[in-house]
Parts: sequence; structure tokens; C-alpha cells
Amino acid sequence: MRTAIIGGGIAGLAAAYELEQARQKGAQVEYTLFEARERLGGCLASEIVNGAVLERGPDSFLSEKPAAAELCRELGLGGELTPSNDAERKTYIVVRNRLVALPDGLMFLVPTKLIPTALTRLFSWKTKVRMGLELLHPPRPSDHDESVAALVERHFGRETVDRLADPLLSGIFGGDSAQLSARTVLPRLVEMESEYGSLTRGMLAAHRKMRLRAKAAAAGNGKKPGSAPAPRSIFTALRGGMQQLVDAVSARIDPASVRLSTPVTSLLKTAGGWRIEAGGATELYDAVIVASPAWAAGALLGRVDAALGEELSGIPYSSSITVNLIYDEARLGRLPDGFGFLVPAVEGRAMLACTFVHRKFLGRTPPGKAVLRAFLGGMKNEALVAVSDAELVAIVRRELSEILGEGVVRLGIEPEFAQVSRWSRAMAQYAVGHQERKQRIAERVAVLPGLRLAGNAYDGIGIPDCIRLGRQAARELVSESAS
Ligand SMILES: Cc1cc2nc3c(=O)[nH]c(=O)nc-3n(C[C@H](O)[C@H](O)[C@H](O)COP(=O)(O)OP(=O)(O)OC[C@H]3O[C@@H](n4cnc5c(N)ncnc54)[C@H](O)[C@@H]3O)c2cc1C
Repeated sequence: MRTAIIGGGIAGLAAAYELEQARQKGAQVEYTLFEARERLGGCLASEIVNGAVLERGPDSFLSEKPAAAELCRELGLGGELTPSNDAERKTYIVVRNRLVALPDGLMFLVPTKLIPTALTRLFSWKTKVRMGLELLHPPRPSDHDESVAALVERHFGRETVDRLADPLLSGIFGGDSAQLSARTVLPRLVEMESEYGSLTRGMLAAHRKMRLRAKAAAAGNGKKPGSAPAPRSIFTALRGGMQQLVDAVSARIDPASVRLSTPVTSLLKTAGGWRIEAGGATELYDAVIVASPAWAAGALLGRVDAALGEELSGIPYSSSITVNLIYDEARLGRLPDGFGFLVPAVEGRAMLACTFVHRKFLGRTPPGKAVLRAFLGGMKNEALVAVSDAELVAIVRRELSEILGEGVVRLGIEPEFAQVSRWSRAMAQYAVGHQERKQRIAERVAVLPGLRLAGNAYDGIGIPDCIRLGRQAARELVSESAS
């Protein structure tokens, strides 16, 4: 089976790795990986500057989703997996230029602890009373999708959308909670609403069940009842940065199968197979894994099936920018404890979030240095992608100084190093109705033999889901060709 993979981001790389594994085990598989850019990895890119790991794109993946750590272990990177420093985990929200810590007991946007919720300065008393009354919400069947903002507002009020849902989701998706699909982004909350009515009651019940299961498992393993397993860190990074993963996968793929700086410009289904035009040449393949962003997939597949092309092109994307700043720690004032802060859109700032990198993952920044990483852009501020590097760095320095205070980040203090990275139309947005769109796409793909889609537009925005989909696409094609 000759397979073309379009797109060498982590989804396409995972697909190529899986095909290479099958080939080495004796499957009759050949593959070519086409990548438009001059490097592999897509959004994954990191560098070591002055001894500090600087991530241009993602810095870590969710530990509870196993596909990324599994792949790292297979690639011999198990010893490089670095847990987030959860002992110091504390995140702030900017409220009228002041940092307010997220209250203890928040689970997936749902307050579950009375005292921290009552005492927090994040919400007004009106919102707190509403959070108490939320316990009385009756069950509500979920017959149609709605936005995350609509779901959260119905339960906890507008202020919770502005100060919690919006900043948390723009931190993950660069997204807008008024557009994101509740069914896709918060499926557990939608289920809880139909079972319990109150999200707080649903979350507490889920938490109780989890604790009982952990106790039963511990008892089954002969451990002392009550001794729960050690908690896993929330995030996992690579000691040397995400580029380690890109390099390790690339090293396992046949270099002769990789075509860099070669965008696929045309894709057609013919009687002889999939006809691909790229780099001035035309070739035929038995199968194709389209692992480019959905807007690029839509442009290519529109000539194969116009409706499929439209569905793919209809998936919205946001752009984001990261700005890494290395500072000499001694020249900064004391940063607040914790991992960093999120900036709600209602604050009217360019910055969406800032991570104190040297705190989030230990051992990746030399002693005496601080790395601050700001995020900008997102659905509500796309225009920033066109702003010059110098201007973006100036904006970030000014906003850091205003938010953290002149005593912490004095405007006059130059960072030792500044790096700007732009990710144009890189983050798929799971808009209201995404599940139905995904179903329509799956139905059209199912009648095009040899076609598979992978990437962040479909079933999870994070690295583990992209890896899972890439590998799954390759496995399915291998087993189809063997049958
Ligand atoms: C700033 C930022 C921070 C993030 N943080 C995190 C995080 O901390 N944790 C996490 O899990 N996820 C994070 N993500 C999300 C995650 O990194 C991405 O969703 C994931 O890497 C996407 O992988 P992909 O392979 O689907 O797409 P991409 O990485 O976008 O790769 C697609 C590739 O297709 C290529 N291509 C496009 N058109 C063509 C064509 N016609 N022919 C050939 N090639 C083509 C592109 O050049 C690109 O290399 C972040 C993303 C960004 C941008």
C-alpha cells in the first residue's frame, strides 16, 4: 500500500511513525510525508537559549491522556518526561489589574468548596449567592448543543463566564466561550446537567465515585484501605522541550520518505488511486492521510467532494502568538507564587495569559533566571498576528509591568532575551454543532476508500489526541490493506 501523508505536524508524524513500524514488522507499506514548511513538527517547536528551554508552541500535554507519554516512552524518551511542579500550582485571574487566585475546589469551571468560593475576591456576592442557588437546579435534558458561555451563564451567571470560562478557554483554545460547543468542550458538564441538574452536585457525586473506586482498587491491590494512589501531575513536559519529541519521531521515519517545503497543491481521486500534485510532480497513491489543518484539508478535498470540502473549511481556526522573555531573576521583584495568570477579555488587554515557566516545570531554566511566556491573539484579537515583533515585545513588557506591578517587572528592565512566535490559523475551534459536523464529515470520508483525516480539528485539540488520531488513521489503513 502506497500512502501519502499530507502535513508533518505531530498528527502526521505519528501516522508516519505508525506506518514505519508496520513496515518494519513486514507489512507491505510505503509512505511519503509531505510538509509545506521547511521543518517537521507543526506547532511543536522549542529551542534552548542561554540554558533555558523556550517553547514556541505547546509546552506540555495533559498527563491523564496517555497517547503522548506512551509515544515518548516507545521512542526512548521516558526518562525525559517531566511532571509539572503541582506542589506550587496556583493560577491567578486578572481582575481590574489585580491578581486574584483561582479559588480552591474549582473543577472544570464548577465551584465545589463552600468556604473558598465564599471568600474569593474573584466573584461578587451576587454571583456567590447564585452559585449557592445552583444546587437547586432541576435536571435538564440535553436535546441540542449550545455554547459554553450559555451553559455556564445559565448555572453560575455572566460574571463566571467573563472571569472564569472565557479566560480558561482562551488559554486552551485561543477560543471564545460564546462560540465553543458545550457538548464538545465540556461533555461531562452537559451529562451532569441532564442527570443532576446542578453541576456542583454532579461534580461532587463524580468526585465521591472516583474516591470510592480508588479505595476499592487500593484494597484490591492489598494496600491499606484509604491509601489512594499517588496523584499524577496535571501536565507533562519534556526536559529538553517539545522539539525532542519531533526529533525522536523524525529519527524513526525513513528520511527518504519525507518531503519538506513541499505543499500538496492538488488531491484527486481517480480510477488508479489518489492523485497528488506536490513540488511540481504528480504521483498516485493507494491511500492518503490528510493531517493538515482542516482549512487546508477543505481546500484540497473540495475537488474530490464539494460537500466534504465545505464542511472542513467551515471549521473555524484561531491564531495565537507566544512571547518568551528571559530575565535575570535578581533584577526582577518577587513574582507571585504559582504558575502564572490568565487575563479575561473584559480586562481589555492584548495578553491572554502568562506562564512563569521556571516555576511550572523545574530543571528547564538555569538557576537565577526567570522565563515569562505570554500568550496573545485568539479569536477576539486575530489582528495582533500582523503586529511587528518589537511592538509585541513592548506590549507584553508594558502589560506585565501594569499587571504585576512596577515593583516586580520594572518597565526599564530589559529582558536578557525575547522571542516572538506566530501561529496563524493553528488552533481549531470546536464551535456549537461540532459533533454533528464531525458526524457529517465521517459519513463522507467513509465512502472515499483509502482516505483518513487526522489532526486537531476533529476529536481533541491537545497533543495526545492528535497523536492518537494520527496513529489510528495509519493502523486502520494497514489493517484494511491486509484484509
Ligand atoms: C501556541 C500554542 C500553544 C499550545 N499549547 C498546547 C499545550 O500546552 N498542550 C497541548 O496538548 N496542545 C497545545 N497546543 C495545541 C497543539 O499543539 C496542536 O493542536 C497540535 O500540535 C496540532 O497538531 P497537528 O498535527 O494537528 O497540526 P499542525 O501542528 O498545525 O500541523 C499541520 C501541518 O500541516 C502542514 N500543511 C498545511 N497544509 C499543507 C499542505 N497543503 N501540504 C503539506 N503540508 C501542509 C503545516 O505546515 C503543518 O506543519 C498549542 C498550540 C499552540 C499554537
